[in-house]
Amino acid sequence: MRTRLRKSISTSLPASLKARMSVVVFLLVLGAVALLALATLAVAERDMRGVTSQQQYASLASAAVFIDEEMAARRNVLRVMADSIAAQDVAGRAGLQRFLAAQTVLGKEFFTAGVIDVDGSVLASIGSVRPPPGASVRERAYFTQTLALKRSVISEPLQGNISGMPLVVVTEPVFDARGQVRLVLAASVNLRQPDFLGRLDTLKPGPGGHLYVMTEQGIVIEHPDKSLIMQHIGALCPPSVPTRSAMQGFQGSMAGKTSNGDEALFAYRRLASTGWILASVYPTRDAFAPLRAIRSKILLAALVLAALAGLAGWRVVLRLLQPLERLRSQVHQIRRHRLGIDALQIERRDEIGDLSRDFYTLVAERELAETQTRDSERRLKLLTDHVPVVIVYIDREHRYQFINATFEKWFGVSAREGMMRSISEVLGEAAYQMREQYLRRAFAGEEVEYEFTFDDHGSGIGGNGRAFQTSYVPDVDDHGVVIGVYGLIHEITKVKAAHSALQFAAATDTLTGIANRRRFDEHMAQCLARTQATGAPMALAYLDIDRFKAINDSLGHQAGDEVLKEFAQRLQQCVRASDLVARLAGDEFVIVFEGVKNAAELRQIGAKIVAAIRAPFVLASGPLSATTSIGIAISGAAALTPEQLLDLADQALYQAKDAGRDGVALVGGEA
Ligand code: GH3
Ligand code: MG
Repeated sequence: MRTRLRKSISTSLPASLKARMSVVVFLLVLGAVALLALATLAVAERDMRGVTSQQQYASLASAAVFIDEEMAARRNVLRVMADSIAAQDVAGRAGLQRFLAAQTVLGKEFFTAGVIDVDGSVLASIGSVRPPPGASVRERAYFTQTLALKRSVISEPLQGNISGMPLVVVTEPVFDARGQVRLVLAASVNLRQPDFLGRLDTLKPGPGGHLYVMTEQGIVIEHPDKSLIMQHIGALCPPSVPTRSAMQGFQGSMAGKTSNGDEALFAYRRLASTGWILASVYPTRDAFAPLRAIRSKILLAALVLAALAGLAGWRVVLRLLQPLERLRSQVHQIRRHRLGIDALQIERRDEIGDLSRDFYTLVAERELAETQTRDSERRLKLLTDHVPVVIVYIDREHRYQFINATFEKWFGVSAREGMMRSISEVLGEAAYQMREQYLRRAFAGEEVEYEFTFDDHGSGIGGNGRAFQTSYVPDVDDHGVVIGVYGLIHEITKVKAAHSALQFAAATDTLTGIANRRRFDEHMAQCLARTQATGAPMALAYLDIDRFKAINDSLGHQAGDEVLKEFAQRLQQCVRASDLVARLAGDEFVIVFEGVKNAAELRQIGAKIVAAIRAPFVLASGPLSATTSIGIAISGAAALTPEQLLDLADQALYQAKDAGRDGVALVGGEA
């Protein structure tokens, strides 16, 4: 609620600081002056209310005195008449009628007047509306009360019997010599008569106010609105709260609301002579009209004063904010590089100086940081572009978001061409298919490594057999979500070649260049597994050069080596490319035959080899004759281990040696 208020205030204020401050000055002055004026007026109104109420009640009291006097005067007129009747002993209808007719003052003061006998019959009367002869007022309360009390009585308001007019009747007893009531003198006052209580109007409290008179029961006796006379005060609408309290006995003044709901000051006073209630109603609207007039004038003055103060505030603010304005324009220009930061007023000792110094430091720090960032970015770019490694960053849509210069060197696609494009667009669909499974694993959070060459599923560019190893490293954000993958690709062509060379070297006999024992073991295992699975026969030939020691001994070790090399060459020439020739040790060789048909075929091959060796060896020292013995073992249906087969072949070799060398012996199979 409060923040909403604050927000609405801040949005309704003007945007410029100067205008805001002026508006605030204007509002503060307006508020202060208006508050002061209204407080003063409130105090004045309270005081005025007190004084006005007092005055209202005082004038009501004097009006009451006036009415009492007026009533007393009319009673006096009647008393003088009664005294005259008694003194002159006027009697008889005619005498009384004459007497009444002679009293001109009666006609002036009263509507009608008459003399009533103690039995209630009207003996004589004067006035515009007169009772018929023999009329009686025996039942009338004023008559019976006068007889009972033996003194003057003022009646309740009543409807005239003959005139039909609203009246009050004033009586006066006429006593005889013994002090008994002989006659009753009665005179009526027409309540509608304009001049009854005539001067009451002059005593009303102000132009909008009025006075009225009612009985204790609320019957209106006198009112500016004559139609209300004889009516109950609550006949048209319920009486107001002050009126009700007056009927219950309240005298004095009070504030309240009229039955119409208008605010007014009320005053009530009982008449001493009749007990009637004299009421005064003074609408607040009228009572405080002058004060209201002053109030709007004062508020207008406050507005003018505040406007002047706002204007003055505007000028002062303008002057005070000049340095700030200058600072603003300087900062503006510094941002657009039209001005250096040295233009700032950092030597000032006030808040503007503080602000300038802080801004100066901020800009200097930022420039330094920017330089550092630029340097570091440059270094990083230099590094990433010159390392012999491809560095890429791949987003969740499998697009390149970063590509270094090596990428272009290797794959022929520049960073500009490849950035924000998908892998399949950049490297082709086949290359993407190959990478997709690894990418999926990397995006699942796994570090993945794989190798590829341009020959198989590489980029589709080149195809020169270069080999690469790729590492995918997931880029995980703070929430554990993989938002991208770093790809590092390094070339492993040379490593691969070195590896192959090593593998080759490890399986090759260094002297003859054919397979060695290790390669033979591997090959045997694979071959046996294959042939045993298919049931196809295979054979192993074990060869040994006859009397090789003698060659060594006679011609030297070197010549021996020459023989060994030539021997290996001849063996390889005698067999198919799919057959493996290996040197086990010294002058011992083996040949693994796969896919042989039968023993006869083997015998034939054996004989061919024996014949091939018989041809003279041409050595550096001259020609040399040599022979070889061959033992062949055939693996048939029985499942043999490589060792068992080699053993069999060895046994066959012994047989060949025993048989006089330079020949072939077979064991196993259908041998
Ligand atoms: P046999 O007919 O019974 O086989 O007689 P042999 O003299 O050939 O006897 P054997 O096969 O046991 O002798 C092999 C000789 O081969 C023994 C050794 O000095 C010689 N030798 C072993 N390795 C090498 C080598 O790498 N180079 C040379 N030049 N001679 C070797
Ligand atoms: Mg030998």
